[in-house]
Amino acid sequence: MRCPYCASENTQVKDSRPTEENAAIRRRRICPDCGGRFTTFERVQLRDLVVVKRSGRKVPFDRDKLLASVTIALRKRPIDPERIERMVSGIVRQLESSGETEIPSEAIGALVMEALRGLDPVAYVRFASVYRDFREASDFAEVLGEIARAPAADSAAGADAPAWRDPATAPAVKKL
Ligand SMILES: [Zn+2]
Repeated sequence: MRCPYCASENTQVKDSRPTEENAAIRRRRICPDCGGRFTTFERVQLRDLVVVKRSGRKVPFDRDKLLASVTIALRKRPIDPERIERMVSGIVRQLESSGETEIPSEAIGALVMEALRGLDPVAYVRFASVYRDFREASDFAEVLGEIARAPAADSAAGADAPAWRDPATAPAVKKL
C-alpha cells in the first residue's frame, strides 16, 4: 500500500484487527520513509456497482470517493471517523442489496442526505449544497426549512439504524 503522505511503496502493517462486527479488517500502517501513519480497511465487495451520472456517463462505484465526499461534508464536525465508516458501509450495503447493478448518482446522493440528516445537520446542509447544486442563498433556506419540518432521526440510533430504512423518508431507495 502506497504511503498517502510521501508516496513511498515501502509501508508496513503494524496491526490488523477485525472491526464493524467482523465485516471488515482494519490495518494500521506506518511508512518508514516519512514516519506517516494511516489506516486501511479491507472489506468484501459483493458486486461491482456502476454509477450512472446525470450526464448518462457510467463509472465504477468507488467507495473511497463516497467516503471522501461524506468526510468533506463532516469536516471539523464532532463525529467519530469510525461512525462515518459505518455510515458509508450502511449506504454501500443498501446499494449492494438493491438488486441493481447500475445506480443513478442522484440515488446515492439521496441516501447520503438521509444518513447525514440523522447524523449531523451542518454536514447535511453542506452536502445538500453540493448535491443539489445550490446557486442562491434561498436554496439554503429551503433545506434549513426541511430540517425544521422533519426532525432528525434519533442520533443515538447511529448509522446502523438509519432513517433511510424507513420507506416513508427514503424516496430514493424506491427509485432504485
Ligand atoms: Zn511516507
